[in-house]
Amino acid sequence: MSESTAAARLFGEHFLQGLTTEELQMVERVRRLTREVIGPKAAEVAKEDVFAWDTFRLLAREGVVATAFPKAYGGTDARQVLRIRVIEELARVCSTSASLITGTDLSTRAIAAGASDDFKSRLLPGLCSGELQAAFALTEPSAGSDVRGLETVIRREGDHYIVDGRKKFITRATTADWFAVVGRAAHDPSVFIAVLVPRDAPGFDISPEVGKLGWYGVPISSLEFRGVSVPVSHRLGAEGDGFHLAQDALLRARIGHAAMALGRAIGAVEIAATYMVDRQLFGKSLGEHQGAQWMLAEMIVQIEAARALLALTAEKYDRGDADVAIFASMAKLQATDLCMKVVTDALQLTGGRGYLQDFPLERFFRDAKLNQIGEGSSEVHKTVIGRDAVRRSRSAERNPCLHAGSLVDY
Ligand SMILES: Cc1cc2nc3c(=O)[nH]c(=O)nc-3n(C[C@H](O)[C@H](O)[C@H](O)COP(=O)(O)OP(=O)(O)OC[C@H]3O[C@@H](n4cnc5c(N)ncnc54)[C@H](O)[C@@H]3O)c2cc1C
Repeated sequence: MSESTAAARLFGEHFLQGLTTEELQMVERVRRLTREVIGPKAAEVAKEDVFAWDTFRLLAREGVVATAFPKAYGGTDARQVLRIRVIEELARVCSTSASLITGTDLSTRAIAAGASDDFKSRLLPGLCSGELQAAFALTEPSAGSDVRGLETVIRREGDHYIVDGRKKFITRATTADWFAVVGRAAHDPSVFIAVLVPRDAPGFDISPEVGKLGWYGVPISSLEFRGVSVPVSHRLGAEGDGFHLAQDALLRARIGHAAMALGRAIGAVEIAATYMVDRQLFGKSLGEHQGAQWMLAEMIVQIEAARALLALTAEKYDRGDADVAIFASMAKLQATDLCMKVVTDALQLTGGRGYLQDFPLERFFRDAKLNQIGEGSSEVHKTVIGRDAVRRSRSAERNPCLHAGSLVDY
């Protein structure tokens, strides 16, 4: 890819190989946006935790939001191998803009996958162009990592569903026009149902925005549903599909979180490396001190390894491989824990300046934490990966250096 106005990057272009000409044009468009608008304005956008309308409209206008949507409804149905590059580019300078893209996946995927044709035609073009917004409401006061705690009840009455319950930590609640709400069927708590609730439905309350540590520009609120009635046509998928639709949305969002974490880690390393060149101490630049070089080396090696795992995961998603969910767990765990470490070390390398609000690493540091918590925390993904490995090891090929029989008999 040619970049006439920019010098070669610290992190090379190797992950762009394999993208089509059209996909490379999208990457180039996003790079131009980050250079000309999103990067220079990132600090200002992240000053207040109010929805970043200007950035959202810019990303919608430039067709970046559309990458999440099916072609039939105005989207470009981008491959994940492109989406991770786009999200990485955005997060390199501005987590808000990256989270507007991953959040679009989370909030609209259940609609794209499960809404009736009529609803898809009504909502998807507007969601794709940025004229409409949706929110995805799964988490509750008693159900975060463990969705078995879900208490929202969805009861069928004639040709309507009645929703009763509370939701917590819902992104875009104050700006969304429609809410994809997951609850349990009143007649059978093992059946999960997802329905679309309009923001003006009687009995539906949205709390004021709740203050948080980072991820400014994409505020969160709590929701309360008291006997909220929606027609049966508002159901997403079939009765019983609610859990699957949520997992489908979370899978894409997990890949997005990993890309966001790696983009931010790349940005943090670039900033620390620039400081290492600029800063003179003990008679030479910081970059000439071996201890600092080793910190830089560790960060770069681990980021490149995590990018490789994520690229593989994106390919698996695009191919529809059966094990993509486990790979998404691995990629998210690896990328988000690494990002927290890298941002901490990059901030350390920039000394007192890294701690200043005026310096971008303070923002990177605060934003990094949420990637380890949202869309399944690191602990949840470790549990998922470990459980899967134990399950598969029961029937896996035995290591040929072992004696026959139980290892307990050694
Ligand atoms: C800014 C923000 C935006 C969000 N946006 C949305 C949204 O749009 N829609 C939505 O539905 N939700 C949203 N969430 C909710 C988010 O997905 C949850 O916060 C997350 O799933 C964790 O749930 P919890 O906060 O209830 O933590 P808990 O489930 O209470 O977990 C607490 C801690 O226990 C750990 N833990 C859990 N299980 C185990 C285990 N087996 N072993 C060891 N440790 C364990 C967890 O990793 C975590 O560290 C958002 C959250 C935040 C903060």
